[in-house]
Amino acid sequence: MQLSELIEGVRAGQRRALAKTITLLESRRADHQQQAQQLLEALLPQAGNALRIGISGVPGVGKSTFIEAFGMLLLGAGHRVAVLAVDPSSGRSGGSIMGDKTRMERLAADPRAFIRPSPSGGTLGGVARRTREAMVACEAAGFDVILVETVGVGQSEVAVASMTDVFVLLMLPTAGDELQGIKRGIMELADVVVINKADLHPKEANRAQSDYGNALRLLTPHGAAWKPRVLQASALSGQGLAQVWDTLLEYRSSLGTALMDKRARQTLEWFDTLLREEVWNAFVRQERTRALLPDLRERVRAGEISPSSAAALLLGERVPR
Ligand code: GDP
Repeated sequence: MQLSELIEGVRAGQRRALAKTITLLESRRADHQQQAQQLLEALLPQAGNALRIGISGVPGVGKSTFIEAFGMLLLGAGHRVAVLAVDPSSGRSGGSIMGDKTRMERLAADPRAFIRPSPSGGTLGGVARRTREAMVACEAAGFDVILVETVGVGQSEVAVASMTDVFVLLMLPTAGDELQGIKRGIMELADVVVINKADLHPKEANRAQSDYGNALRLLTPHGAAWKPRVLQASALSGQGLAQVWDTLLEYRSSLGTALMDKRARQTLEWFDTLLREEVWNAFVRQERTRALLPDLRERVRAGEISPSSAAALLLGERVPR
């Protein structure tokens, strides 16, 4: 397919063209990457019109059940929903959080939805970058709600929070005493906490709601535009999901223009990250670097030269031996 056909296909909202585009974006082949950049440039003006929602929670909390039910609810309300993922472990372990085709079956079958598993392999930075670019393509294709799923406790949450407008953390009602164990950093990312499986443990869910509410109040800076909310839901029965959506809409309207500032900040951070990466890549590709680096690393490791002297030497500054 010609590049121009792909672009037109994506703009027309065709899922097949979108899938092909994302495949191109994910490819590591130099010629593909060049085409991918052209594609992105062409699609960028049509992007930016979606609400970008990050979703996380430990395995088993109900993420896929939630995303499927929530996605169906949104389709019913006239939205078009794309689901992406950031899972750096996928490919390596074969345990991608969305590799399983039976996950989100109904949503996947609906032409108004688009589901794409995490790009596989590579560093978190690489996976995040490709997901971010896939998001641009989804938006250009007219998807107006983008759900970016991730799992784990740590860096991938930070990556997803830095590419989305709002971060939703799913929690179990019975994990109240685990509050200490939950990485504080992840709680700090949450704009909305959803206590899922409230149907199973209504009493515990009430407790967890007030516990997490208190914890979040302590974490939220004074005068913040948004005070994180804690809600209860059952992804299985659908109970509480409409309220989650209302809350996300409230989030968006309460932020107003601050949301655009947030996105601008995210884009600038992304640019800085890419730049660092590219400068580093170009540097290590240089013949001189390739010739000197292995030996220098060895000498640094052996304590024969200080890291700063070694770096200076590599950068061409004269250092006494
Ligand atoms: P994930 O690993 O976070 O994606 O979790 P899943 O969506 O695969 O859900 C794990 C299990 O919990 C499945 O058996 C679901 O049917 C079940 N589950 C998910 N949400 C709910 C809920 O709200 N209530 C109940 N009772 N079960 C749920």
